[in-house]
Amino acid sequence: MSFCVKCGAEGPVYESVCERCFLENRQFTKVADHVDLPQCAHCKDFSMEGKWVTQPTVEAAVEEAAIQSVQVMEGAQVVEVGAEVIEADKLNFRVNMQLAVEYKELRVEEERDTIVRVKNSVCGRCSKIKGSYFESTLQVRSRDRKLTEKEVDAILDRVQSMVEEMAAENREVFISKLDRVVGGAGGADVYLSSNSAGKVISRNLAEQYGAEVKDTAKLLTKREGKDVYRVTYLVRLPAYRYGDVVMFRKRMYLVGATRASNAKLTDMRTGESLMFSHGDLQDAKVIGMKDEMLDAVVLTETTKEVQILHPTTMRPIELRKPPRFEVKKDTVKVFVYDEEIFLLPK
Ligand SMILES: [Zn+2]
Ligand SMILES: [Zn+2]
Repeated sequence: MSFCVKCGAEGPVYESVCERCFLENRQFTKVADHVDLPQCAHCKDFSMEGKWVTQPTVEAAVEEAAIQSVQVMEGAQVVEVGAEVIEADKLNFRVNMQLAVEYKELRVEEERDTIVRVKNSVCGRCSKIKGSYFESTLQVRSRDRKLTEKEVDAILDRVQSMVEEMAAENREVFISKLDRVVGGAGGADVYLSSNSAGKVISRNLAEQYGAEVKDTAKLLTKREGKDVYRVTYLVRLPAYRYGDVVMFRKRMYLVGATRASNAKLTDMRTGESLMFSHGDLQDAKVIGMKDEMLDAVVLTETTKEVQILHPTTMRPIELRKPPRFEVKKDTVKVFVYDEEIFLLPK
């Protein structure tokens, strides 16, 4: 049987003394008189444990900050916390905490008080936003074609949702400025707070639209001994889009699926499909846009031919079907070019 070296009581000992002697004048937790809690004046986020975070209410932030400030004796752990937040004024709060602490087999209740002072501050993101800080620019343009408002809208929607997704992971990612190119060939300039965001988004647009990306970097500053570059990503959308008809190497093609590096073209006369790189296709000239294709009513169909009503003259006309061509509905899509009419291949 062990006994206390201080009072002689028999029973389990902690550092050679009994529970009562061990707990006498001993505190397992401590808190400072005051805890400062920086709050961003703009976005209202709080700085907690070195990170800016959103909190549902000031009281919730105050309670959290008080609990985080509790220092615990080595070997002990706080297993339960109850806290009461009492507002002294708008910026000062008294927090009373009931802490259940476990140390070896002992469980102790301690009560601690502190004052949390909310301090007006500005977070890194807001100071960057205020200063119109940007690390990369996304320049969206098109090759030999005017970008329509609708196309620019679709691209900007895509960019914005990607930025939102990235911001959920990293609050330092934001759009610093967004300019639409007015007049000329149209397009947009998007200024981004982060370089890597520009890189990821430009690659994504390249993949989505078969666009070509060119980047140019300029040294912006040094941060923590590292060079920080400001990069301009020029995203150039090809002149052609899915569903357009192009003239390329003296042949007429329907543009099929476009990918980051190439596009599928189907010969309008032979129905033959080929893949070409966007680099090769720089000479391709758009002669018909997707929304310029017309519907023609089908009158009769044989294995080799189809008789349709010419969509502009309304006269019946017979057309030879390209290989593998199928009539699926009462109408077929046709393209009228130089008074000639073409069935759109499959
Ligand atoms: Zn004792
Ligand atoms: Zn802020």
